[in-house]
Amino acid sequence: MKTFCGRANPTTGSMEWFEEGEDYDYHQEIARSRYADMLHDKDRNVKYYQGIRAAVSRVKGRGEKAIVLDIGTGTGLLSMMAASAGADFCYAIEVFKPMANAAVKIVEKNGFSDKIKVINKHSTEVTVGPDGDMQCRANILVTELFDTELIGEGALPTYEHAHKYLVQEGCEAVPHRATVYVQLVESKRMWSWKKLFPVHVEAEDGEKILVPPSEMENCPGVPSVCDIQLNQMPSSDFTTLSDVVTMFSVDFSKPVQSASTYYRVQLEPVRSGKAQIVLSWWDIDMDPSGMINCTMAPYWVKPTSALQWRDHWMQCVYFLPNEEPVLQGEKLYLTACRDEYSVWYNLQKAREGENKADEEEHKADVRVESPVCRCRAHLLWNRPRFGELNDQSRTRQYIEALRKVLKTDSVCLCISDGSLLPVLAHYLGAKQVQYFPSRIDLYHPHELWQAFFKANHLEDKIKIIEARPELLKPSHLEDKKISVLVGEPFFTTSLLPWHNLYFWYARTAVSTHLASSVTVLPQSASLHMMIVEFQDLWRIRSPCGICEGFDVQTMDDMIKNSLNFRESKEAEPHPLWEYPCKSLSDPQEVLTFDFTQSVPQHCLSTEGSVNLSRKGKSHGAVLWMEYHLAADISVSTGLMQMSNEKGSCEWNPHCKQAVYFFSSVIESEILSDPTAVTYAINFDIKTGEIAMDFKL
Ligand code: SAH
Repeated sequence: MKTFCGRANPTTGSMEWFEEGEDYDYHQEIARSRYADMLHDKDRNVKYYQGIRAAVSRVKGRGEKAIVLDIGTGTGLLSMMAASAGADFCYAIEVFKPMANAAVKIVEKNGFSDKIKVINKHSTEVTVGPDGDMQCRANILVTELFDTELIGEGALPTYEHAHKYLVQEGCEAVPHRATVYVQLVESKRMWSWKKLFPVHVEAEDGEKILVPPSEMENCPGVPSVCDIQLNQMPSSDFTTLSDVVTMFSVDFSKPVQSASTYYRVQLEPVRSGKAQIVLSWWDIDMDPSGMINCTMAPYWVKPTSALQWRDHWMQCVYFLPNEEPVLQGEKLYLTACRDEYSVWYNLQKAREGENKADEEEHKADVRVESPVCRCRAHLLWNRPRFGELNDQSRTRQYIEALRKVLKTDSVCLCISDGSLLPVLAHYLGAKQVQYFPSRIDLYHPHELWQAFFKANHLEDKIKIIEARPELLKPSHLEDKKISVLVGEPFFTTSLLPWHNLYFWYARTAVSTHLASSVTVLPQSASLHMMIVEFQDLWRIRSPCGICEGFDVQTMDDMIKNSLNFRESKEAEPHPLWEYPCKSLSDPQEVLTFDFTQSVPQHCLSTEGSVNLSRKGKSHGAVLWMEYHLAADISVSTGLMQMSNEKGSCEWNPHCKQAVYFFSSVIESEILSDPTAVTYAINFDIKTGEIAMDFKL
């Protein structure tokens, strides 16, 4: 079987499709999977084991045989726990073939082949009966099918089906129950991920304020979950307006309904403020008594208990459709609506003197449609991009730089996806501004820009060019040459920091239209690199070996093999503000890209070494870009600040950085004779990709 894989080509900006063998998908999925992270999640594993032991002993205590159904067995871990706890037989269901194969091997290696039957099927395809996959229905249902939003991986329909066809009535379920909690908050930082705030520009002829169009103001945004490591959000970045409230629970031991529904709770704000965001997380009780509880609650909820770090389950940020001023003690209703796979929220005020009948009527209109972006901005800009556009200090730097380079007769061309630079350039006095609004016409950004320009009376001031840079014609520019070429650079399809070098390729494509004295902003970019020790992120790529007494090395080997597939060890994007690390070396500039010149014909490569100047474990290298906008003005998409004493780093909160995990970790001591890491980094002009190699 062949698989087609799409990837944006960073040199042309267009999507390209590759034919890949069947293996390709598997390897990608395994290499980037969360299995390692789950196996390192001690808190989860210990509690599952306790819950499974308790369930097996309850069934045995009733004098019944313990027949387990483990849906989504992965490595087989939960089935092996059940078998060790004395279960008579386990049916371990796994839909993903490479995992099912791995489970067979792991189960065999651990000596459970006679007690565990691995079935490579989706649970809804499993048959029961003398000739079926399962001899009889199970009386213990074990699963771990949850994502950060609890239901996003299809837990509800899977449970619904299992209760109808695969388990006995009154079965024991591990986990027994899940509960979703919410807290209402005000947070300018998180709200800036959904709304575009007005942009203030000091122009020659007074202050200009750029405002979003009303379509954007009233847009509900997109339904996709916003999951983050909420524990990295400092308490100074939000204000809690309510206590933590239980939103809804699901009892997994009883028939489960997956059909769309809603839940409503009443709450009274503990403080007045602007209700903008609903923070949410869940916990699971492994047993009916609630004594074995595994929670995703963030740090401020139970400040005394130790937090388990995990990446496979985080916390959710939901954006209310509109900001709502609320008063301390006033009566509010918060509604969670859900379909089979996702949840969204709505806040309503109780009406003055509301009676029962009103309340019923109220209930009828609490159900709101799942959010669908109507303004198109939420399709063009993802949440971090909204945050970046709302970052005032960054905007100020661009304004400063533009002010330095623009003249009243400037003919300005902007190349960047969904950028506000053309408007800034116009306000700052550029005579003529042309703009390639986006490389992808998928989202009809044209309509968005029309609305945007209209709201700001800029209709005839900025010209959108609906062509690709290589198809730019003199007529697009009214036969003028470009005197100022600007970009952020930011492109929607970029995955890794250097993919935004598409700006350089586009600049090269429009070379013939540039005036000989053209100013390019940014004038150059540089790639920076630093060796780090991660506080936790290392776990996602680290072998586990033995998990709760079970040998899962087969899984480790499989991940390693997939990571090395076709020798393609690559850097991966991670938003490091969510993943603390400590620098072990000084940051180093490793490559520079001169935007005043066209892309050269030859590849750019560099070799060198970097000293490990701090004690710690070298887990990998972090790489990011810095853009030099104009003399003395640079913006970093990576490191913002570093404390020299401890090496703790502050990262740009709107960008993902590239992380290259070393295949082996070295531990450096205080060094009189510092250890050096040597590197070789190559930017391939033809592909726009960066290959790298490190020797420790
Ligand atoms: N039980 C393992 C792995 C959990 S990950 C552990 O706890 O460590 C969830 C696994 O369930 C994935 O491997 C996924 O492929 C599988 N899965 C999800 N839904 C499924 C379904 N309905 N039927 C079979 N497998 C499923």
